[in-house]
Amino acid sequence: MEQSYILTFDIEEWYILQFHGQGSVDEYAGRYDVLLDRVLGDLGKIGTKATFFCLGKLAKQFPSVVRRIAEAGHEVACHSNEHRWLTDLSEKEFYEDTYEALASIEDITGEKVKGYRAPAFSIGSRNKWALNILSELGIEYDCSIFPASRDFGGFPEFSEDKPVIVSYRGTEMKELPINVTRVLGRDVAFSGGGYFRLFPFPLLKKFIGKNNYLMTYFHMRDFDKEQKRVWNMRYFKNYYGIEGAYDKFIRLLDEYDFVSVAQAIKGIDWESVRKIEI
Ligand SMILES: [Zn+2]
Repeated sequence: MEQSYILTFDIEEWYILQFHGQGSVDEYAGRYDVLLDRVLGDLGKIGTKATFFCLGKLAKQFPSVVRRIAEAGHEVACHSNEHRWLTDLSEKEFYEDTYEALASIEDITGEKVKGYRAPAFSIGSRNKWALNILSELGIEYDCSIFPASRDFGGFPEFSEDKPVIVSYRGTEMKELPINVTRVLGRDVAFSGGGYFRLFPFPLLKKFIGKNNYLMTYFHMRDFDKEQKRVWNMRYFKNYYGIEGAYDKFIRLLDEYDFVSVAQAIKGIDWESVRKIEI
């Protein structure tokens, strides 16, 4: 496989903060709009395309967010309807959640959604059936597998850190998992979220250099210096490094040539990738 550095974002804060009644919608939605415009502007300058996994409810309630992403020529994919974790859903509920999400997103973009990422990477050994439902709904690739244990979700039994075809009960799906690397005896993801902010840039480069495949996952909140800081056990991980996160993100864009998932999929010889029965 040639080098494949994939740029993705999960687009959710607008809806999630409203759902949890956190502050004034006008205030935070505006702040996230500014962050999104900054990201879209910087990607536009270098001509890089990315994949944005969006919530269906967000497409419905904040359609301009999804419209701006699509109009800038990026791939819009699905990040569930309401950000309910799959570990809490029955098969029927998951089908309905995804069906509604796809309808809401496609209503804005006018294009068939091809990709899916589960909230909190919540496809694991207990709900592999989700992949069959995604296939039934016309999804062509999945980016939900996090091949390590995490606080919630994760699929530690899955050990591939490159694109594969997963097969469950006769249904095949292209899977582009998150990368993990071993740090102090623990598998950690470094290509988004807390650890991306925590690790210094040279260390990130070292991790990236171990593989010719990189799947990133950024959120607008990763770059939001003004978000309300809530004291809890996760404080350190949630906020550490947030001041420099955007600069680090720009350095990453300078250093590597990123593509969207749709672009990466075209460059992969799917006949030669591993097939894994899960
Ligand atoms: Zn999410």
